[in-house]
Amino acid sequence: MKKASVSSLFVVVLTMLLAISVAQPVSAQSASIPSMGSIPYFRYPVTGIGEGVSYEIGSLKHTGPDLYAIDFSYKYEGIDVYPTLPGRVVWVGYEKDYGWTVVIRHWDDNKWDKKYYSIYAHLTGSNLPKLWDIVDGTRPIGKMGKSGNGGNGVVHLHFAVRSSDKVYDGLTALYGKSGSVIVTPAFNVRKYLH
Ligand SMILES: [Zn+2]
Repeated sequence: MKKASVSSLFVVVLTMLLAISVAQPVSAQSASIPSMGSIPYFRYPVTGIGEGVSYEIGSLKHTGPDLYAIDFSYKYEGIDVYPTLPGRVVWVGYEKDYGWTVVIRHWDDNKWDKKYYSIYAHLTGSNLPKLWDIVDGTRPIGKMGKSGNGGNGVVHLHFAVRSSDKVYDGLTALYGKSGSVIVTPAFNVRKYLH
């Protein structure tokens, strides 16, 4: 009986709150911006899943900042790699462990309150985008390869998504300004991949 009363009171308060929130004016701009924490649609960075491209290499373990990274492997170099979301290239170059790498920031114009970064490593080094290029799902940003020490000589794409409440460019997006502090935590993109 007491429980029912509390529930009734809760419903009345909730109804009042809803009435107040509906009465608030909503500008066109704020209505178009997803709320904090909304998760965007991530596409697979390689096509042909299930047609010879395997999902993760059992012998390569990911730890620390790479905890949620995914390795896509294939027997040959050269499969096209696509950005997981539209965005802007904030770093492209060679890093000793990641090899030829592209880092993309999604988005940079406050469409989302939370920023996402995606990382594509061990690329071949050909057909790479230019720094600050705007990219979308229609054009590859590189080819699957085995560059870098972390590639272990195995052809695979090391793919990861990180999130941050702040905007970072360059390798700072991966390593932080000190080179050792990870400023953007790993994000478990697996369940949001489509
Ligand atoms: Zn990896």
